[in-house]
Amino acid sequence: MSLKVLKFGGSSLADANHFRQVAEIVKSDPTRHYVVASAPGKRQGNDTKVTDLLYKCYALAANEEDVTKVFDEIKQRYNDIINDLGIDLDLTPKFDRIREALLHNTGRDYIASRGEYLNAMILAKYLGFQFIDAKKVIFFNEDGSFNSEKTNEVLREALSEHEYAVIPGFYGSMPNGTIKTFSRGGSDVTGSIVARAASATLYENWTDVSGFMMADPRIIDNPKPIKTITYKELRELSYMGATVLHEDAIFPVRYSKIPINIRNTNRPEDKGTFIVPESDDMSDYIITGIAGRTGFSSVTIEKAMMNTELGLGRKVLQVLEDNGISFEHFPSGIDTMTVIVSTKSLSEKRADVLAGICKNVNPENVFVEENMALLAVVGRGMVKAKGTAARIFTSLARANVNIRMIDQGSSELNIIIGVDANDYITALNAIYNEFVK
Ligand code: ASP
Repeated sequence: MSLKVLKFGGSSLADANHFRQVAEIVKSDPTRHYVVASAPGKRQGNDTKVTDLLYKCYALAANEEDVTKVFDEIKQRYNDIINDLGIDLDLTPKFDRIREALLHNTGRDYIASRGEYLNAMILAKYLGFQFIDAKKVIFFNEDGSFNSEKTNEVLREALSEHEYAVIPGFYGSMPNGTIKTFSRGGSDVTGSIVARAASATLYENWTDVSGFMMADPRIIDNPKPIKTITYKELRELSYMGATVLHEDAIFPVRYSKIPINIRNTNRPEDKGTFIVPESDDMSDYIITGIAGRTGFSSVTIEKAMMNTELGLGRKVLQVLEDNGISFEHFPSGIDTMTVIVSTKSLSEKRADVLAGICKNVNPENVFVEENMALLAVVGRGMVKAKGTAARIFTSLARANVNIRMIDQGSSELNIIIGVDANDYITALNAIYNEFVK
């Protein structure tokens, strides 16, 4: 039996017209049972998200400054939606409570969470669905980590009592009952948690784009959409900067192998992207997507007979660990080894890291090169296709791009290439054109 959980992002619930679109989508399919709502997002380019207004109020109050102007703006946003939709709902007592909490410096997360709380309340009323407060069904542990067992149990029970319901995204409660939020964009995570607890057959994530594109549309002109992508491929692409869905949103549905469908509220006729546990269905291209980021540095260590020295890699990595730096890649030669790290994480610790490596492994030479970009070419089709790497490298050579590092992931799902940051855009275009055009 089909059961869908839907999450609507802030831009899909920014004003009354969007609420109407959302209601049409939800009501057009009776298997759409549970809806997770974000706070009202931007109505146009220079608008401010309600969540950001709430954070602003909190900061003003903490500074003992007057919150009236910003708070009135927030009230106006909700009242405009309520009045335009013509629903019978008075949020005055709720606004008063939030205002009171601001004056008493109640938690920052509590204030931020009220954006989704109020929006979900309006949506529930408009749809005629039950409102379920996330505080009562989403739980965190004492250390702030998400408590999946308790949440799953309590949420499952709560959902079983209502055929149709709206749940605010972004937050839950701590063991002492106070409110805690996920990181920014966390309503995606709530949607995934609800999908798992409801044993949904599909998690529809409604946003303002028609799914994932094969490359960043800010760099590649009109890139092709991705029809189907596996959880693992998506992890690789998101890690490298593809952002449509919160990174942590994959984990809850992964347990139950529930597919996610990214859809566009403004273009419901588009099929969007399906994120699935596994897929034999090959895409139209050998690669599924390309993503990348700048801002990496390499630390290279040279030492004769390095390959015979037991524990050398561990000692180098220990220095990074001691300095709180996590490494991204670790390509090595016979007498050289390179560790790729983010430039930002290295910057303050650079002198300590170099001194630590010198002390720990006594190298002949150790040096840092900055200004590196990494590109990840990702695709489940690469395992079976021969010559993919050759095509990548040839396309880069033709575009006159010098390759500084190559790392083929052990999953054979990706090939990572390091290039000079100045060559990043040229490299991305070269690879995209080789495989897609
Ligand atoms: N409203 C929150 C934010 O702006 C959470 C979300 O929209 O997912 O980050």
